[in-house]
Formats: sequence, structure tokens, C-alpha cells
Amino acid sequence: MEGTMKLNEFNNAFQTEQQCLAYIANLKENKCIRCSSFNLNNSDLKKIRCLKCNQTFSILTGTISSRSQTSLRSWFYLIFRWINTKHGIPSTDVSKELGVTLKTAWRMGHKIRTRIAKQEPQFIVEGTVQIDEMCLSHMAFKKQGRSLKNKTLIVGIYKKTTNNLIVKVLKNTKSKSLLNFARSHISSKCHVYTDDWKDSKQVLRLKKCFILD
Ligand SMILES: [Zn+2]
Repeated sequence: MEGTMKLNEFNNAFQTEQQCLAYIANLKENKCIRCSSFNLNNSDLKKIRCLKCNQTFSILTGTISSRSQTSLRSWFYLIFRWINTKHGIPSTDVSKELGVTLKTAWRMGHKIRTRIAKQEPQFIVEGTVQIDEMCLSHMAFKKQGRSLKNKTLIVGIYKKTTNNLIVKVLKNTKSKSLLNFARSHISSKCHVYTDDWKDSKQVLRLKKCFILD
């Protein structure tokens, strides 16, 4: 959902529950949460079955609206409102606009706020990914020693099939920092390999780049 979307555009794009489900399915690339296969029986997006490993799952698994009784469209509407406001939305307004109880309105707002506060785990990559660290020198034309002084250490996770890159600036090279970053963004089913970024052109071709600080 784009931050620049207008209300009439939102209403056109998300008229039905099915359109909201299809939007999430597209974001999740329509693949199995267990083996990443695209060979799915997804005639019902809430009861998808993987034809390769037989895993069944809902497209809503892991999303803010999983296990919620409130319609997905209501969630979408509230997220849309949150994206387009600077100071949050009072639960009383949400309750009136969505026709839900004040308690439900507060819970929904709380969930969205919590998700916004912990945005990093939204970027989870699956399948085969490459993870590498590299140093960027602050003084590009001066020869630098091996010390990290005057250098910024960055670590990136790159997925070739979707051409996506997640980058984070690290404070140190301790394996704990690298592991925490990797665990936050790589699915447990990932096949991970590392190598140096020898071909810088690879980075220039990236379609999406999520920069986290
Ligand atoms: Zn599967």
C-alpha cells in the first residue's frame, strides 16, 4: 500500500475481502511457507495446500490480521488511515468508521502501532539468499588500514531471484550482531551462502533496496 494513495484509490483497489487477500498473496509471492514451492492449490487463499510438501496454510499466517474476527478490509482501511496520518487515529473515530466496538478499535490500533514500532521483521526473505559484510570507507581516496576506524561496516542479504537487497549498518563485526540481523530477516528454510561482492554491477541492478538503520 503506497503512502501517497488517496481514499478513492483505496476504495477502488480494495472493494472486497478477496481483493485484500489477493493483494497479500501477491506480496507473499504466492508460494509455500514451508518449501517455497509455487505449486499450490490456492483456490481458497485461507486454506492453501502445497502440492509438493502437502503443507496447508492461510495466506494470512504471520500477518496482523491472522486469527482476527475483523474483516481484512477493515484492517486494510485502518492501515491506510495510519499511513496517511501523522499523529495516529483516536479509537473512538476507528470505532465509528469501522462499526466495531471501542475495545476492538483500540486493539487494532495497538497492533498496528506495535507492528510499526518493530518494522524490521517484516522483511523476511526465503529461498536461496546471499549474505555478506563489507566496509565502506569514509575517506574513499585515502588508503585505510584493517582497523574499522573511519569505516562503516554494512551487512547485506541479497536474493537473486527477486533482485531484493536488505542492508544494515553494523556497529561491530561480532558474530552476534551478524547472527541477529540474519535471524531477523532470513526464514529458517533459507539456503544461505556467502561470498564477497566481487561484481558491484550486481548491486546497481537491484530492483528494491530496503535500507535499515
Ligand atoms: Zn510446500
